[in-house]
Amino acid sequence: MVDEEDLRDLIPSYAYISLARRGMEKISLDQCFLKDCDNQDPKLLQPFKKEEYEEEKKEIKKIHIKCKKCHGIFILKLETLKYVAKSTKNEEEEPLSMGLVYALDENGNSLGHIGYF
Ligand SMILES: [Zn+2]
Repeated sequence: MVDEEDLRDLIPSYAYISLARRGMEKISLDQCFLKDCDNQDPKLLQPFKKEEYEEEKKEIKKIHIKCKKCHGIFILKLETLKYVAKSTKNEEEEPLSMGLVYALDENGNSLGHIGYF
């Protein structure tokens, strides 16, 4: 039995999409990524399962989420690089963007790269 609130804590609130020369756009991850569904209500999204594993240089978390609007299931795949290059010039500097988020359907087929977190 997994705690739904704990799973929710694993999901970043936002992802950032690079818009080439126009900077970054921030999008909420509290939405259903399935085709033809426009659910953006976190109350209608129920995380119910997680998988965690490591690949070379990456930590991967998959959060399975049930959408109560379209009754579909999708997976948010969060990839975190284990070693992030830090600038040596300035210790205060934030590490580079190090997380990637993808959406997958119930069968693990990619629905696309969502952005960075
Ligand atoms: Zn949905």
